[in-house]
Amino acid sequence: MVCLLLSAGELLGGMSEATIATHCPYCALQCGMNVTSGPDGVTVSGNAAFPVNKGGLCVKGWTAPDTLEHPDRLRTPLVRNAAGLFAPATWDDALDLIARRFGEIQARGGPDSVGVFGGGALTNEKTYLLGKFARVALGTSNIDYNGRFCMSSGAAASTMALGLDRGLPFPLQDIPQATVILLAGANIAETMPPLMQYFEAQQARGGTSIVVDPRKTATAAWASQHLAIRPGTDAALANGILHVLIRDNLIDAAFIRDRTDGFEEVRRIAAIYWPQRVEEITGIPEAAIVDTARCLGTAAHPMVLTARGPEQQSQGVNNTLAYINIALALGAVGRPFSGYGCLTGQGNGQGGREHGQKADQLPGYRRIDDEIARTHMADVWGLPASAIPGVGKSAFELLTSIGRARGVKSMLVMGSNIAVSAPNAQVIRERLKALDFLVVADFFLSETAQMAHVVLPSAQWAEEEGTLTNLEGRVLLRRRVVEPPGGVRTDIEILCELGKRLGHRRQFSYASTEAVFDELRRATRGGPADYSGISYARINATDGVFWPCPSPDHSGTPRLFADGFPTDNGRAHFHAVSHRSIAEEPTGEYPLFLTTGRLLAQYQSGTQTRRTRALQDLAGEPLAEIHPATASALGLSSGDRVTLRTRRGAAVFTVKTTATIRPDTVFVPFHWGGEQSANNLTNAALDPTSKMPEFKVCATRIDRIDDPDAD
Ligand code: SF4
Repeated sequence: MVCLLLSAGELLGGMSEATIATHCPYCALQCGMNVTSGPDGVTVSGNAAFPVNKGGLCVKGWTAPDTLEHPDRLRTPLVRNAAGLFAPATWDDALDLIARRFGEIQARGGPDSVGVFGGGALTNEKTYLLGKFARVALGTSNIDYNGRFCMSSGAAASTMALGLDRGLPFPLQDIPQATVILLAGANIAETMPPLMQYFEAQQARGGTSIVVDPRKTATAAWASQHLAIRPGTDAALANGILHVLIRDNLIDAAFIRDRTDGFEEVRRIAAIYWPQRVEEITGIPEAAIVDTARCLGTAAHPMVLTARGPEQQSQGVNNTLAYINIALALGAVGRPFSGYGCLTGQGNGQGGREHGQKADQLPGYRRIDDEIARTHMADVWGLPASAIPGVGKSAFELLTSIGRARGVKSMLVMGSNIAVSAPNAQVIRERLKALDFLVVADFFLSETAQMAHVVLPSAQWAEEEGTLTNLEGRVLLRRRVVEPPGGVRTDIEILCELGKRLGHRRQFSYASTEAVFDELRRATRGGPADYSGISYARINATDGVFWPCPSPDHSGTPRLFADGFPTDNGRAHFHAVSHRSIAEEPTGEYPLFLTTGRLLAQYQSGTQTRRTRALQDLAGEPLAEIHPATASALGLSSGDRVTLRTRRGAAVFTVKTTATIRPDTVFVPFHWGGEQSANNLTNAALDPTSKMPEFKVCATRIDRIDDPDAD
């Protein structure tokens, strides 16, 4: 049971000190933390009673309070004046201006000329209300969010194969009892350190862990085995492992017969991925491929986990389906301590993809082109189903439509810094400049906010309440600890005020954030992600509730798929997928693979973490990781400055030579903007199903900064 108020009313110098159990503002683990607000400011400690992190926090969690009192905090709306400079404005003036400009632009260009861009860190209530704001207040189909850049391939593959996308369809408590874990493209030792305790417990019980990654990351170095894959070849590796499982009769024939379909076609495809051929494609030795397959095939409880490595590719869905095929062939899905899971990254990466901020989605993980879902939502929103727009543009398509005929002319951005996080970011920044009117709600003047016509200062994690859904599908409550600074409003308040000004007073009047959640519960009733049985009171009385939870007396669903799959025929679907080339192979001009990722001490676009001194001390600039042999061939040493170039642009880095990376690959983190932006380089080639850009691999070259031939 979670204590809401651990201690309160202790008077210190006339000020009350209160400790409240809440959750970290950063990643999808959503570690429980006790936050104390007192005369000396806000401090945090790990909440040992919360079963996810059991008291552990990473350095980002420990330093989270730094953002609350930061001198860069926005404390008043800003409106760009005739000279092109920001000037403070009252809330009424700023909101009136936004409503008027949205109205003018839609009167000229139609409802879809105004777009909305959300984020995977927004609470479930904000996610829900942002989707409602787009469809009801603006009547636009054009809403999408930055989760399209994170989790969409894993989500699409899970839905296609298993009928439902809940990142982990089992609780974290299953991990220690898995006997063998195949972990593809996740560096949890750096991105989610408290999660490592589950893997360490698994290893302590004698379990085996095999990490697939082009780099020998901290996670790969810890694992039992590291498969240093050539970037962009995951489907070949997964098919090769499946080939050995079939060849050596290590598959679960009864499970395949009774609970799946499509296996014969997969068997036919897997036949051409013999280990020697897969070694040539992936660079992973044949013996390691065979060992991995035999290890998984003889395990009592095999588990396959994927993350952004295989997913952030133009073949991301196929890659993930190929890994899911392994779990299905092993008969592991739906069994305790076994199965397939996708490790979600962003703070509300799971809930953020369930409640209607995607272009093709209504709340509860319903499809917007499903007539039954439209009728249900029309009833909740109090309008005819015909008034709900149809499918809009996905994130990158939305952004690149700016400035084009029938493209978006104006946009509201909430909880996202797309000027840094979008692929091919230079092009995106140019597109944003072409908007007639850009509104950004944020707590700092992010790179995207700097380009806005109106900036609205919004409240942060400890200043507001709301639910989030962590990477295992546990719905939890982030509680308000302190009041927002004067002049700052919550995103919920902002959306309600704008909704009223756009003529929808009835639909945007709520007594509280909890009232928004109660409407979300009604909206999700009967949907795949059914929250209707979850309430703030239940979360307060427990450690969170796993969805689906269709009624107040339902206990929630920690484990999915035990009795069946929510597919069209109740069976899990194998998908026959082939290895296909990445969108951009290295060439003579661009001879190296470039891959991108996260660091321990930074988070996403860095809007918060680059303003946190302790984190800047740990990782104050982006380093390009280059193998010593590659560096030597180019005459480079650690500390040298280089420009990385791709067909899209350039970015400047300091060299870090390390033998932990493949000689044909360069790694850069993506947390910085401007000339240090890794996304100046990345390729926006989209997966045809998920619309996920190919962040994880493109072709690059390295130029020394002092190279006279470098332009
Ligand atoms: Fe926060 Fe994630 Fe670190 Fe936990 S692991 S403290 S949720 S950033």
